[in-house]
Amino acid sequence: MKKISLLGSTGSIGVNTLDVVERYPEKFQVCALSTGSNVELFANQIRKFKPALAALYDSTKVDVLKELVGDLDVEIVSGQEGTISIASFPDADMVVSGVVGSAGLLPAIAAIKAGKNLALANKETLVIAGELVLKEAARNNTQIIPIDSEHSAIFQALNGEKTERIKKIILTASGGPFRNFTLKQMESVTVKDALNHPNWSMGAKITIDSSTMMNKGLEYIEAKWLFGTEIPVEIIVHAQSIIHSMIEFVDTSIIAQMGIPDMRVPITYALTYPDRYESDLPSLDLSSIGNLTFEAPDFDRFPCLKLAMDAIETGQTIPAVLNAANEIAVRAFLDELITYKDISEIIRMVMYNHRPVPLQEMQDVLDADLWAREETTKLITVAH
Ligand code: MG
Repeated sequence: MKKISLLGSTGSIGVNTLDVVERYPEKFQVCALSTGSNVELFANQIRKFKPALAALYDSTKVDVLKELVGDLDVEIVSGQEGTISIASFPDADMVVSGVVGSAGLLPAIAAIKAGKNLALANKETLVIAGELVLKEAARNNTQIIPIDSEHSAIFQALNGEKTERIKKIILTASGGPFRNFTLKQMESVTVKDALNHPNWSMGAKITIDSSTMMNKGLEYIEAKWLFGTEIPVEIIVHAQSIIHSMIEFVDTSIIAQMGIPDMRVPITYALTYPDRYESDLPSLDLSSIGNLTFEAPDFDRFPCLKLAMDAIETGQTIPAVLNAANEIAVRAFLDELITYKDISEIIRMVMYNHRPVPLQEMQDVLDADLWAREETTKLITVAH
């Protein structure tokens, strides 16, 4: 029985992880859960999965939660400290992080420091502090297993191969809802348009990121840290999201991982790795799909993608700044404070205004993150 500590249980990854746990009651057990502020769903999850420890980040809602699950034998904690205690819960064999945004960094570090293997869906952890996170993982002899479908695909394609034999990683992108939009059309994109992803059903932040292709940019950085910063990563738009990514090896042979676009597949792999369990999810029906298409990405229509590639090229605190600026800009777009086009322009300005510093300790990342949030907010206020 593998005991799992789950961070971000009410988000899209969290809900899917619990669905996977439920499918294998004899294999997995949830021992600790954390969420941000969705009390009602969290209370239902606690009732169903009976964790020993549960953390609600929003401490103003703790009383409501205690009321809802007061009859159960569960310890309730809150705030950043509470989330950290879920990440380092002694009973857990594995920590799954489905936290959204850079809030996932400190819990991920706590899990690694506690010697836990980490199934990571929170890409920001590696985007903003990849270098430090990997050092910490090596020091504690823990493994980071990617859940992001593309990185799970690369991880699976690499199974049994040597990273030195990789020629390049081919990271696939769906292209999002605006794949065929003209530059002109993209100027009048609304929140409703951007929240409508063709293939994947996800949270609001990542859906907007998919539409701007910032999500692919963050995944580009994530892939660099997971598989080697020296390995070239090529991005290719593959609208059907059937091939989740590929590796070209030095002999020009390409290994691709394919499957239905359902996050429960990579989540299950992360939980069962290095084994595979039987699944009753639907098989991929290739004849009904018919065609798989591929095209080069367009950096003019998707400037966020280029910004992310530039960010990891410069390195240091720039990826953390890119990420924080993006989080604030996306929030402002969802709140209709800025236009769709402003998202990339504001991020570009914040990156330009930042003086990068080398990453020596976590505080360097946190400082850059905070600086970028303030700078972005300032620019949004001026633009508004
Ligand atoms: Mg992905």
